[in-house]
Amino acid sequence: MSDHCHVDGAGIDHACSFHVKNEETINNAKRREKTINAFARVRTRQELWSRRAPCTCETPYQHSLAAADGERSRVRIRDGSRRRRDLAEWNPRICRGVQGDALPDAECETKDSIPLLEACLERLRDKNTSSDLQRTMRTASNEPFVVNVKDEISGLEKDLAYLRAFHGLLINGTTFDAALKSIELVQVLRPFHPKSEEMFDEEFAECRSFLKKFAETSKGDPELKPILVTDWDGTMKDYCSQYATNLQPIYSAISLARFAGEFTRLAAVLTAGPLRGPGILDLTSLPINGPLVFSGSWGREWWLHGKRVVHNDGISEEGFDALERMNDQMRALLDEHPDFGQFALVGSGVQRKVDRLTLGVQTVCAHVNPDVSKSYMEAIRERMHRVDPNKKVLHFDASTELEVEVVVRSEGGLWNKANGVARIVEAAGLSLGPPRTILICGDTSSDLPMVRQAIASNAENSMALFVGCSETLKQSVRDLVGDDARCCFVGCPDVIHAAMTTLSNSL
Ligand SMILES: [Mg+2]
Repeated sequence: MSDHCHVDGAGIDHACSFHVKNEETINNAKRREKTINAFARVRTRQELWSRRAPCTCETPYQHSLAAADGERSRVRIRDGSRRRRDLAEWNPRICRGVQGDALPDAECETKDSIPLLEACLERLRDKNTSSDLQRTMRTASNEPFVVNVKDEISGLEKDLAYLRAFHGLLINGTTFDAALKSIELVQVLRPFHPKSEEMFDEEFAECRSFLKKFAETSKGDPELKPILVTDWDGTMKDYCSQYATNLQPIYSAISLARFAGEFTRLAAVLTAGPLRGPGILDLTSLPINGPLVFSGSWGREWWLHGKRVVHNDGISEEGFDALERMNDQMRALLDEHPDFGQFALVGSGVQRKVDRLTLGVQTVCAHVNPDVSKSYMEAIRERMHRVDPNKKVLHFDASTELEVEVVVRSEGGLWNKANGVARIVEAAGLSLGPPRTILICGDTSSDLPMVRQAIASNAENSMALFVGCSETLKQSVRDLVGDDARCCFVGCPDVIHAAMTTLSNSL
C-alpha cells in the first residue's frame, strides 16, 4: 500500500483490507451471481435515500440557485430535507431513484415508475424548453439562465422505452431474470446513434465480437478473468451539458453491472471528476459497493468497501487545509451572491477534487453573461487571496474558456490516470501483468496514460476500446497498442452497453 494513502471515516481502515474483502467477494461465486441477477436489490431503500440526500440541487452551492419552472413559480432552493421543485425532481435522477425500487420488485413498481418518468419527461419538455432543448430558468436575481437538457431528455426517453419493454414482459408472466435477458436493448438504443442506425449496427457487431474476445481470454478459468478499467464521461455515459445533472440511465447501469459481474475479475471506473459533491457516486445508477468500483480525481480517491480511500501523494497538509478553506469560501460565495448561484450548474459547477477545485465559468453554448462570468472569476481570485495571501499554496489555472481551476501546488511528478490504475490494481491484490487481459476504455487523450500503463505491464494482453474520438486519437491508441485487433472504436457509449448486454444475455 502507498505511504500516501489515507482512508476517510471514523474507523480508520487500511486500504489493503480491500484486497482481502475483494478476494472474498470475487471468489464467492454465489454472492456474485446474486449481485448480477438482481443487482438492484443490492441497494436498499435506505441506501437510496441516503444517496438521494446530497442530490443535485441540495448541495450548498445550489441553495441560492433559483430553479425557475415558469415565470411565476420561481422557487428558491433551500437547505433541509423537504422535497424540492427543481432540476433534481424532473431530471433522470428520478430514474435512478426508481431503479432500485422498481426493478427487483418487478411488476408493480416498474409500472409505478413509468408514469413518474413520463411526468418528468413531460415537464422537461414543457414551454420553458425550446425546440433545440434549451431550458430557460431564472437565477435568484431573476436573470434568465439557460440549461441544455438534451442529454436528460434522451436519457429519460431511452429509460422509458426500456422500462416499458421490461414491464410488458413482466405482466405477461416472464420472470425477472428472463425479462432482463429478453429486452432488445439494441432496438431501444439504435435510433439514438449520433450518425445513423446503420452505423450503430456496424459498430455494435464489431464491439460485440471485440468484447467477446476480451471475455473469453480467461478460457473459463475464474482466476484469469480479465480486468476492465474505464473512464466515465463520454465513454460509459453520454456527455451532458452540466455535470450536476449528468445522471446515468438505468439501462446502462444494468448493462455494466451484468457485464462486470459475469466477465471481469476487477471492473473499475476512473474519472476526472470528484467522488461526491456531486460526483460519480451521486450520479451513477449502479450500486456503489460493487460489482464495479469507483474513483474520482483521476484515481486519487476511491470508494472501497464503504470508505473513501485517498492517495494524496505530493500534497502537503497545508495544501489540503488551504483547499478545504477555499472550498468553504466557494460555498459561501455561491450562497451569498445571487448572481453566482447559477455557477453550480455551469459546466463542471464547483467540483472539489483531491488536489484542486474545478469551477465552471461558462457553458459550451456561452449562455452565461460574460460580465457575470468575469466578475465570478475575479471573486474566485479574491477568495483565493483571503485563503492564501502570499500565493504559497494555491495556484489559479485558467484551464479552458469554460472552466478554471484552483490547484494545490504539489511536489513530485504529475499525477495522471495511469497512477490511478496502478493504485486500484494494487488495492485489489492483482497485477496488470500477463496472463490476465486488461481492457482500457476511454474517449480522450487524458485516457491514454491508462493504455500506456497497461501496455507497459502487459504488451501482449492489453486491449483498448475508445468512444467517439478523432482520427488522431484513434491513431495514438493504435500506435500504443500495436495491434489493430486489440483496438475497437465506437461512436457512442450506447453501442458498448448494447454489446455488453448481448454478451451477458448469451450466457
Ligand atoms: Mg471522458
